[in-house]
Amino acid sequence: MTRQGFPLDFAVIVSLVLALLVPTQSFSKDLAQTESARSPHVLQRLFSRSHTPSSQARKPANAPVSLDPFVVSRQRQEMMASQRARPKAARPTKAVASPKESVSTGPRPLTHWPTGQKLIALTYDDGPHPVITPRLIELLRAKGARATFFLLGDAVKAHPKLVETLVAAGMEVANHSDTHRQFTKLTEAQIRAELDACHRRILGAAPNAQVRVMRPPYGSWNQAVMRVAHEMGYKVILWDVDTNDWRKRTTAQMTQQILSQARDGSIILMHDRYQASLKTTAQVIDALSAQGYRFVTVSELLAQPPH
Ligand SMILES: [Zn+2]
Repeated sequence: MTRQGFPLDFAVIVSLVLALLVPTQSFSKDLAQTESARSPHVLQRLFSRSHTPSSQARKPANAPVSLDPFVVSRQRQEMMASQRARPKAARPTKAVASPKESVSTGPRPLTHWPTGQKLIALTYDDGPHPVITPRLIELLRAKGARATFFLLGDAVKAHPKLVETLVAAGMEVANHSDTHRQFTKLTEAQIRAELDACHRRILGAAPNAQVRVMRPPYGSWNQAVMRVAHEMGYKVILWDVDTNDWRKRTTAQMTQQILSQARDGSIILMHDRYQASLKTTAQVIDALSAQGYRFVTVSELLAQPPH
């Protein structure tokens, strides 16, 4: 290489470099433009598949109109459980019996307890309720009746003073779990935790309460439920008369049903959440009292020798 040749060589090299660089830069620029232009569409498409606002908006539009979605979903499950539990409340079904462990061979929940003394246990689930429970207590006291309230830990947490009021009024407070989960879908440890949490909440609200009976949410049970309840010193209580009050049945319908099904030792299921249940309670107590029945708590009923 000579000194004269250097500028020429330099010019050639610069040209070659430019020739190579320019298309590269322009390609890169195009790609960048294309990507930046496409990106929003790609994201939009991906977004529309899984998180589109329109699909989210459709759900509430088609959902049942309710003030309390928890209640609706629970009621739907309660309906299914009720269909399983009624009228043969403790009869084993596919839903509650694990294949390896037949419920028919182990202990079973109590659905009634005949004593020959015309005693009946009215029971109310899912409370305490800020409006219905105090009115129910007032009504029961006025009629000289006692009843059993299967309390939810969540509701106790929200209305702890009502637990004290129930106990002071001579009502029995009982365990209906902490968060109303279906026990047959839980492990034994989870069942124990649900019962324990509710138990603690009740005693936290009313330290003198005797909590001796429990009712699994939806009446759903298996041998794991029976085992845990037994270990914790609980009797498991279902019912033999189901008012289905949560289906918005009328007072007349429920009263008629109770009067036609109630017998000595009956355990009647209602919820202290509905006005109709309150009115039904008043009518049923009047009608059955006239037939010589008395209304006691579940533990009072079970304390009597069976007939
Ligand atoms: Zn319940």
